[in-house]
Amino acid sequence: MDSKEFRAEARKMADRIADYFEEIEKYPVKSRVQPGETGAQLPGQPPATAEGMAEIMADFERIIMPGVTHWQHPSFFAYFPANTSYPSLLAEMLTAALGLQCMIWETSPAAAELEEKVMNWLKQMCGLPENWTGVIQDTASASTLAALLTARERATGFSTNEHGISGSEKLRVYCSSETHSSVEKAAKIAGIGRRNVVKIPVNEVCAMDAAALEEAITVDLNAGFTPVCVVATIGTTGTTAVDPLPEIGSICRKHNIWFHVDAAYGGTALVLPEMRHHARGLELADSYVFNPHKWMFTNFDCSAYFVRDPELLIRTFEILPEYLKTSTRGLVNDYRDWGVALGRRFRALKLWFVIRNFGVEGIREKVRKHIELAHWLEEEIRKRDDFELLAPVNFSTVCFRYLPEGITGEEEINHLNQKLLQSLNASGKLYMTHTKVGGKYTLRMVIAQTNVEKRHVEEAWERIRKEAESILTN
Ligand SMILES: *Cc1c(COP(=O)(O)O)cnc(C)c1O
Repeated sequence: MDSKEFRAEARKMADRIADYFEEIEKYPVKSRVQPGETGAQLPGQPPATAEGMAEIMADFERIIMPGVTHWQHPSFFAYFPANTSYPSLLAEMLTAALGLQCMIWETSPAAAELEEKVMNWLKQMCGLPENWTGVIQDTASASTLAALLTARERATGFSTNEHGISGSEKLRVYCSSETHSSVEKAAKIAGIGRRNVVKIPVNEVCAMDAAALEEAITVDLNAGFTPVCVVATIGTTGTTAVDPLPEIGSICRKHNIWFHVDAAYGGTALVLPEMRHHARGLELADSYVFNPHKWMFTNFDCSAYFVRDPELLIRTFEILPEYLKTSTRGLVNDYRDWGVALGRRFRALKLWFVIRNFGVEGIREKVRKHIELAHWLEEEIRKRDDFELLAPVNFSTVCFRYLPEGITGEEEINHLNQKLLQSLNASGKLYMTHTKVGGKYTLRMVIAQTNVEKRHVEEAWERIRKEAESILTN
């Protein structure tokens, strides 16, 4: 492809993308393809000779699009969102065009310095402690892995990096039973072992029981274990519960344990001063992560990781082969030493575009609207006898179930709600996912898509009610 053809194709692509966003509501939110259906339409061998864009795009429309679940559909209420937005998308085009490898400052000084700047912007926007230092990671999972590795190195006097895990260290990590699975995964990778992840019980609103944490730590200390890290969550994945950070933080301080806070989804809400009560005690944390790629309109991947002491992070990951030695070392940030990967994408650019093109107030307005819509739905559910709320609406996620009169067996109620969810998702008009709260099958409606409006939530709620009634009578 030469530049002339590229110009023409890129213009067509811009139109294709704008059409997509204008017409997105005509697609079923959740893809309806069956396992193997897409693969069966794709040739087993790569083409030996060049194919034109017209041919490739035709196959994209015919084969790929039906197998796409539309995460940018305003009626996408499943999981947590993976939002994009026009400014983010435009930045991503430039990122791909420049094709930078942002491993060290010298491989693109502007990328390193922009990253430092936008991470400082995020701190101000969210009211995070001024003395923290930020770095962009690909995912919250990678950020939490960085936290666990740093915590492990600090606890073992940086000897594990040198000698490896011997098994005699008896390291322990603590989190609640509602914590995201990325903590268990990180413990496996870090050589701590998933059996050494102690799951602390939660209270009636799914938040960690701090007294039980203290007790577990005491028991472990008496048994010769070394507590390395406690992970608390602002906005758990199941019900968006908030762990009691002040209590957990002071326990960590008392026992000199690394305190990591995971706010992958909920962290974006801290742009609103009125939501910062959820972050009380956050200043006690040693590390913190939230995902602009979830709720801050910046397309995947972009995870914001903050640490109190960047020296500990750098010491954990530092490597210095001859070919990466530079004269600027120590004067600038060489981000390859701030995480797992050497090569890094230029992720700061899309964050910069988003923050500038929305403006901080523009971001606040959208987030505030999502939270208001969630509270509107919460009130609608409260008004009814045949629906039940199953968790406090702390952010923009509503957890509820259908509970019609006359049906009392828990198993039967669970089954009914499972059927309801399946048939709602099969309608193509909306997409929700579920969790379990104390054994109860729970519908989770996350109202956080970039373009969600009141009418989408109203339509969804009406559909949910009607579908519930029709399932009951059939
Ligand atoms: C989504 C989520 C994660 C994982 O995020 P990735 O960026 O996909 O790794 C971790 N923790 C919580 C609380 C989450 O909601």
